[in-house]
Amino acid sequence: TLKSMFEQTAAKYPDKEGLVDVRLGVRWTFKEWEDEVDRTAAALSASGVEKGDKVSTVLYNTAEFATVLFACMKIGAVFNPINFRLTEKEIRFILQDAGPKVVLFEKATAPQVEKVAGGMPEVEFWSIDEAFSFASHYYDRMEQVLERPPVCEVQEDDPYAIMYTSGTTGLPKGVIHTHRDMVDQALIIAASMRLQEEDRGLTAAPIFHCAELHCAFFPRVMIGASNVLLHHFDAPAVIETVREEQITTFFAAPTMWNMLLQEDFSHEDFSTLRQGLYGGAPMAPALTLRLHEVLGVELVQAYGMTEMGPAITALFDHEQIEKAGSAGRPIFHHDIRVVRTNEHGPAEPNEICKPQELGEIIVRGPSMMKEYYNNPEATKEALYKGWYHTGDIGSFDADGYLWVSDRVKDMILSGGENIYSREVEDCLFAHPGVLDAAVIGEPDQLWGERVAAYIVRKDPGLSEKELDEFCISSGQLARYKRPRRYEFVDELPRNASGKLQKFKLRESVEKVTE
Ligand code: AMP
Ligand code: MG
Repeated sequence: TLKSMFEQTAAKYPDKEGLVDVRLGVRWTFKEWEDEVDRTAAALSASGVEKGDKVSTVLYNTAEFATVLFACMKIGAVFNPINFRLTEKEIRFILQDAGPKVVLFEKATAPQVEKVAGGMPEVEFWSIDEAFSFASHYYDRMEQVLERPPVCEVQEDDPYAIMYTSGTTGLPKGVIHTHRDMVDQALIIAASMRLQEEDRGLTAAPIFHCAELHCAFFPRVMIGASNVLLHHFDAPAVIETVREEQITTFFAAPTMWNMLLQEDFSHEDFSTLRQGLYGGAPMAPALTLRLHEVLGVELVQAYGMTEMGPAITALFDHEQIEKAGSAGRPIFHHDIRVVRTNEHGPAEPNEICKPQELGEIIVRGPSMMKEYYNNPEATKEALYKGWYHTGDIGSFDADGYLWVSDRVKDMILSGGENIYSREVEDCLFAHPGVLDAAVIGEPDQLWGERVAAYIVRKDPGLSEKELDEFCISSGQLARYKRPRRYEFVDELPRNASGKLQKFKLRESVEKVTE
């Protein structure tokens, strides 16, 4: 279980620095961290949280998050980390669906959470204000101060968490993962990334999201590597923290790496860094190549989704140049297929596409979710015949590398031809004057749909005409795939984990055409 994983690390490395929270000034050894976890678990238990009950958090990357997380495991509670950027309405939806006993939040999330709290008298809301020592903060209200929680037997198949998918399409769904799922994922990642106990990892990407939590944080805890938390991603703060805390490895979404590249830094700032991890959204090859050149450290990409724990493929350092833009090959214990899409229902797992042929990506592996919480219909469809149907379109090349082209739902159909957003975005991104790019399909009377591009400019003089000529001369894009309309914007709608929220761009188009 994840519980025993944490306990074993604390027992093996009691005096080693386990957790650093830069903002709060927390610097705990693994033993101190575990003591804090025990006290928190005792506090939760004294408040009536029992095995199987849910505990939700609306927290940034903080020592409390890292403490409540393991405290839940100690008493067998199910952890429900909620995206700190969600609105009041979205938080209410998740809390009503998950039905937690306790919700923890902080000053930065209070404006949204407090509004929800008023309408849910049956739930306890705990605010953490001056949270140096989270649990002792709550001692005052407990009659009996317990240092240790009651011993709880947790089995490997017990649920460890409910994580709500980002819901870039439709309502968020609660993904249930068991302890064993995540131990398997952590083992595979730790081995693949060659993590060592000497490593010092930085958590700057949102820890509530499984990309950071499961692919970076848990593997480090498993190995006994040190963990430094930054409250939230901020490019200059990341650079400073890497230098000050002698960070050796960290994960960031492609858009975060892009922001880092806009900063002025010297090689000195990154002299301890040996590895940069990226994933969670597509990274344009032009950006991969720039990163490789400028940063000069080992790069590893992972591709995956919340339902799978998340990682299912990885692209390693030596493959970054030759296969830039690919998601890599399956990680240990994962079967991946590209199969023919089916308009009328889930794709059949045995209708396998040939190399280079596009289809839906389906996968099975040890970290596959148990189910969607309270949603047997959606579970049945997503896990059809034992394969998770990702809703991503892609293909394998002849060398067995997976290329992710688009979300099924973002694909553009123009004049009877499919256009995959990624090929257009990757092409635009290669222009040096482009800082960020997204394309969507918008209604077109003649062609059904046409490509519209939203561009954040690095160079304010960059024109529509220049971009159009660039697309034509690049040789990467058939003429009919070129954007027919450009819009220059200050920023693109992205969620906390760096994924484009194309539905927001579509909404803005609908408003214009109405
Ligand atoms: P989520 O479950 O919120 O993490 O979203 C998963 C989705 O993000 C996947 O289905 C992909 O569409 C996208 N995604 C994640 N990682 C990558 C990657 N490395 N390359 C391309 N798309 C990715
Ligand atoms: Mg499993």
